[in-house]
Amino acid sequence: MRQITGQIAPEGGALAFPIETTKRRKRRTAQLSEETLAAIGLYDHVTRLPNRKSFIEAHAPIPGNASEMLVLITLADAPHFNEILRALGHGFSEDFIRAGARRLGALLGPDVVIYHVSVLSFAFVVPYDGREEAPTIVREIARLFDEPLICDDIPIKTQAAIGLVEPGALDSSAEILRAALVAAQDGRSRNESYAWYDRRSDAAHRRAFTILTDLPRALEANDQLALHYQPRIDFRTGRCVAVEALLRWAHPELGQIPPGEFIGLAEKTALIGPITDWVLNQSVAQAGSWQRQGLDIAVSINASPINLAEPDFDARLIGLCHDFHVDAERIELEFTEGTLITNPEHTFGQLARLRDIGMKVAIDDFGSGYSNMSHLARIPADVLKIDRSFAFPLGTGSGNALLVGHIVALAKGLNLRVVAEGIENRNVWDRLKSLECDEGQGYFMARPMPPEDFVTWYRDAAPIV
Ligand code: C2E
Ligand code: MG
Ligand code: MG
Repeated sequence: MRQITGQIAPEGGALAFPIETTKRRKRRTAQLSEETLAAIGLYDHVTRLPNRKSFIEAHAPIPGNASEMLVLITLADAPHFNEILRALGHGFSEDFIRAGARRLGALLGPDVVIYHVSVLSFAFVVPYDGREEAPTIVREIARLFDEPLICDDIPIKTQAAIGLVEPGALDSSAEILRAALVAAQDGRSRNESYAWYDRRSDAAHRRAFTILTDLPRALEANDQLALHYQPRIDFRTGRCVAVEALLRWAHPELGQIPPGEFIGLAEKTALIGPITDWVLNQSVAQAGSWQRQGLDIAVSINASPINLAEPDFDARLIGLCHDFHVDAERIELEFTEGTLITNPEHTFGQLARLRDIGMKVAIDDFGSGYSNMSHLARIPADVLKIDRSFAFPLGTGSGNALLVGHIVALAKGLNLRVVAEGIENRNVWDRLKSLECDEGQGYFMARPMPPEDFVTWYRDAAPIV
């Protein structure tokens, strides 16, 4: 079927197809939109500046002998931008970005091409002869963005971070942009107005990324994660009364990764949920097995405060004790109190319900960071674990025995049992015993060990006096 279309001028302006078939029109429209799309794909729709793709197409990696460098500026970090977005809306946020681009353009002048490489970031290449720590222009940009951006007459504070990449640092344009972003973030975290790309910190970012991407596989594999158990000794009897379950990860390429590293990363993602589920399953099952073997010990399990914010955490843990036929008294839950409480009513409620059925609750690493004294009295807990940073100096005579004595008195006043962590030698053991701690944990008595080794140790160990 033939149909009459509008008189569309193809490139060149002549009216070549006043009448055309539907098929032909469709084909031509597709071609046009591909061209349009290609053009749109090279520009940012908010600032109309060339975008990341343009940068990559236009720039070969900067060779080592070049006298120019890459600068990337990020206007704000994500939380700050989200606040602007929430308070003032999308339109205003786009004005903020455009105002940033204008300010940068005014400073750099027409000869420097500015690329809008991600929502909040702009990149450009400037001359650099390697003699100065950073070219003057970089310091000027930093100073300029100290002043708020004016959008609709409202001054909005920026949180500019500037990343710099030396010539020859990397061999792909996409990598250079990523490196500049890493540098900007590094600078921001150190509160510096600009920072050079540094391979070492980039390696740390990459390692963190590998850890997070490999964790789900580790949870499914049955030979990467394991729990080791470290004895806790009663100072009066010298006997083991409990063990702490400590997670170990043997990564197929990276080797042993300490929990202090991967738990902290997982807590920033949803992965902390399945990790804790894995730990709870294994440790409650282990507690059940030891209960049947007649070992008279409790198993203390580390949980992240984020887990306690989950609505059914208590019910799941109680369910596990039921499934594995474990007396609730044999399970203790440890968490670090400094970061615990985003929703105290909810968290305290869960802890109280766990204690109602006989489980114990321990406050971990007490004194290591921020301790909220008003919360301390309200946390439904049974045990206070004094951070190991207090223990070591006691053995050398440089420790603050008076302070530890006060912590012990405070804990006892709150009806908490006191556990001292990090006892590495007899001196420390003796000092903490004389300060009336109830239990101790540390390499002096035993290191964390696989469950089979623990059973042997438990059966053979002489009381520590
Ligand atoms: P934490 O809960 O305070 O665990 C005690 C840490 O001190 C363990 O480190 C233990 O190996 C170490 N330690 C014990 N005795 C001594 C000693 O005498 N001297 C020294 N220098 N260190 C000693 P680890 O196993 O590397 O765990 C580090 C942290 O990672 C734990 O601190 C805990 O916060 C976290 N973590 C470990 N396993 C888990 C887990 O299953 N779940 C969660 N959420 N966190 C865990
Ligand atoms: Mg602990
Ligand atoms: Mg601890």
